[in-house]
Amino acid sequence: METISQKLEWTVLGDSELPEEDTALKAAALEAARKAYAPYSAFRVGAAVRLADGSVVTGCNQENVAYPSGLCAERVALFAAAAAHPDVPPTALALAAVYRGEPVAAISPCGSCRQVMLQCEDRHGRPLRTLLCNAGGTVVVPSARDFMPLWDPPPLDSAGKTPSAPQPQEP
Ligand SMILES: [Zn+2]
Repeated sequence: METISQKLEWTVLGDSELPEEDTALKAAALEAARKAYAPYSAFRVGAAVRLADGSVVTGCNQENVAYPSGLCAERVALFAAAAAHPDVPPTALALAAVYRGEPVAAISPCGSCRQVMLQCEDRHGRPLRTLLCNAGGTVVVPSARDFMPLWDPPPLDSAGKTPSAPQPQEP
């Protein structure tokens, strides 16, 4: 038997402690949240992605009467960034939510968004710093891997070997 432990560290910063570029990213996420299409939940989420070239791409949740057809703010922003700037690595993702017009406590990405964030890191080979924002402060998570601590190492196969992960194929 082997016990494996992993230490995760997040930083909680007050608004006055947040670096200037993160303050701008937080504001962009909050502004994006107000543009969400959330007629069913009234829970508006905004995401802002900063790319390595300094540009910012935003997204917000898009609900749909056929529920699974909607999409979270994080994936709207990350996919839009990837579509417009496929070769520019995202370096930071800010996330903010508004309910009935008021910012709410910091929220955390859902499992599907965590998976997309992780693959974004793998695709570009650099961490995606994530800012979970609320009105009073921000939780800074250094890497998407911190949301998916069991991603590495991959599970062992029945022979106790580590199977190789499928590699993306270029067309
Ligand atoms: Zn999500």
